[in-house]
Amino acid sequence: MITSLKKLAQTLRLNLSEFAADNLFPEFPLQVPESFVARIKQNDINDPLLLQILPQQRELQNIKGFNTDPIFEKKYSPITGLIHKYHGRVLLLVTDNCVLNCRFCFRRHLREKITDWQKVFSYIKNDSTVTEVILSGGDPLMLAQGKLKEIMDQLAQIPHIKRIRIHSRVPIAMPKLVTSRLIQSKIPVVLMVHCNHSNEINDDVVECLDLLRKQNITIFNQAVLLKGVNDDSEVLVALSEKLFSVGVIPCYLHILDKVKGAAHFYVNIERAKKIYSEMQKKLSGFLVPKLVVEVKNKKKYV
Ligand code: SF4
Repeated sequence: MITSLKKLAQTLRLNLSEFAADNLFPEFPLQVPESFVARIKQNDINDPLLLQILPQQRELQNIKGFNTDPIFEKKYSPITGLIHKYHGRVLLLVTDNCVLNCRFCFRRHLREKITDWQKVFSYIKNDSTVTEVILSGGDPLMLAQGKLKEIMDQLAQIPHIKRIRIHSRVPIAMPKLVTSRLIQSKIPVVLMVHCNHSNEINDDVVECLDLLRKQNITIFNQAVLLKGVNDDSEVLVALSEKLFSVGVIPCYLHILDKVKGAAHFYVNIERAKKIYSEMQKKLSGFLVPKLVVEVKNKKKYV
């Protein structure tokens, strides 16, 4: 794991010290697996993978409208680590640990996790309208295998839970962490991976996704529209095509949630719509992810 700017700069043969630093946010530091860094082009300060993980001085700017809880998760959290915002689904923050720290993460200031599992299971048992549980965080696939299995087994015992959805960046960012026994469930599992650029998908990722598909796991992707990374219809078309070729359905393209420290990634809705309409012209309908923006208590289709 690379956690120092000096090591990153040496590996990529770049001078990063003028506009980046690794001690800006001790609670959300530079953290990236070496295998992800190996996919970054050397000597290219604008590499789309590098921009996603590089802590920059401009994260310190205070920009109006960008705050620490952009999608009001605190308001919809009846128990620490459980978010109940949408009908039929609850989201659980099962860990605050991530495989890499994405600088645009909307939870970068809310590194919270469940502290009382009994309360969480009781809450879900007592609400029969909840049919889907989303494991999120942090990254659920960073949990020890035994802990993840224990959580999934408990959820599978609740009669009204039809499926478990896992949000994870591990299969993309550090695919070697995934083993055939990592995800074991008695009820259907949907995996929502997070990949923003086709350069993130290398042979190890393909192998990992193959392994997961062989376990009957349905795999979707969610991406975030990021200035300098993928705010170009050609780049997004290439991403959709690549995802489909490795058995992943492009599901969501999120407009960036306005989180403090990430304003330099923001693409406004008008520009997003323009990029999206170009994508629609170039792709088969089933390869076009849904363009969405989170507003107070709902996901809005743009
Ligand atoms: S992996 Fe997901 S939760 Fe973790 S920092 Fe990246 S976007 Fe945030």
